[in-house]
Amino acid sequence: MPRPILATISTEAMAYNLAQVKSRIQQVQQSSLAYAHRQVMTIAVIKANAYGHGTLNAIKGFAQADALGMIDLADAVLCRENGWDKPILLLEGFFDASDIPLLQHHQLTTAIHHDEQVALLSEAKAVGKPIDVMVKFNTGMNRLGFHISRASHVLDQLHQLQKNNIVGRIGCMTHFANADLCHDAVDESLAQMNRIKDLFGDRVSVCNSAASLRYPEFALVGTENWIRPGICLYGSTPFQTDKEGIPDVVFKPVMTLTARVLAVQSIQKGASIGYGSTFTATEAMRIAVVACGYADGYPRSAKLGTPVMVDGIASRIIGRVSMDMLTVDITHIPNVGVHSQVVLWGEGGPSIDQVAESAGRIGYELMCNLAKRVPLQIV
Ligand code: PLP
Repeated sequence: MPRPILATISTEAMAYNLAQVKSRIQQVQQSSLAYAHRQVMTIAVIKANAYGHGTLNAIKGFAQADALGMIDLADAVLCRENGWDKPILLLEGFFDASDIPLLQHHQLTTAIHHDEQVALLSEAKAVGKPIDVMVKFNTGMNRLGFHISRASHVLDQLHQLQKNNIVGRIGCMTHFANADLCHDAVDESLAQMNRIKDLFGDRVSVCNSAASLRYPEFALVGTENWIRPGICLYGSTPFQTDKEGIPDVVFKPVMTLTARVLAVQSIQKGASIGYGSTFTATEAMRIAVVACGYADGYPRSAKLGTPVMVDGIASRIIGRVSMDMLTVDITHIPNVGVHSQVVLWGEGGPSIDQVAESAGRIGYELMCNLAKRVPLQIV
């Protein structure tokens, strides 16, 4: 029998969340005639094994997306081989000359954020359909991208490659540093994109989850807009601290992490539990030992009191999370025994964001850190 821990992935919840983001933008679009002719395409971001949910599961769940966005070329090839025939955007682009034939063969759209990538394309042979590109601009994140002042120069080079049938359509993109915050810096980033977007035939991509939700009008800045939501499609919030002005959009949890009880302990007042004896019972207690630990991706930093659900009743973690187990207070939950089910996060349990907050982490980390040894079951 495998270890009794399971991550259940709901493709129905993925599809629901995708529809929620789209309708948020549609509402804004319908509110003004100025937006009537703007087109919005949704790129479901599925990098990092679809934020831990499984790349192939994501293809099913996000079947109604207009495109997929990811980092790894190998993932893009996997998606093509498994029937995804709509656009794929490589968010960081490609890395060396040997990648270019794959871009051409699989018709992948690639971000271009560095002169080195333009140089590699200049040396490529035109084969089949040209490669669509999105020129990435650094508007304040200071991570990847060209400075806005270089837009015309980069574009001239890409136009030359267009003539040579290496490059196809050319759009522009940026990634906001602060879209999860109410912050003037977001307006400043957008203002930079507004200055150059016309040069790019108005194919623009600026919104991640936070921007799509907090600033949906940013998803309508160009004629053809590509939004790039990730985290909200998996039912977790991009907003950790600044919750002001967040729309009332409800997302469903996509990943539900459950594990079974391995043992039940009765302890006396004054006894302590787990490594470091960080919890001491102030009364006689019953404790369930659960088959989930930090080697499964559960955060070791989860504080005393982090919520869990045991047999449908809310409870809390006590003692330190260890590698393969954690301990839960079941003093007031009758009938819990070996094999009882515990929901660590997701449907029927605490949200992944509640657990993350209690551990001083964020939902992104918890999903992405789910260990390979935890089986994924798709429903
Ligand atoms: N676009 C780019 C370029 C990204 O790197 C990411 C993720 O970090 C996203 C979109 C999706 O962001 P989020 O998961 O916050 O929606």
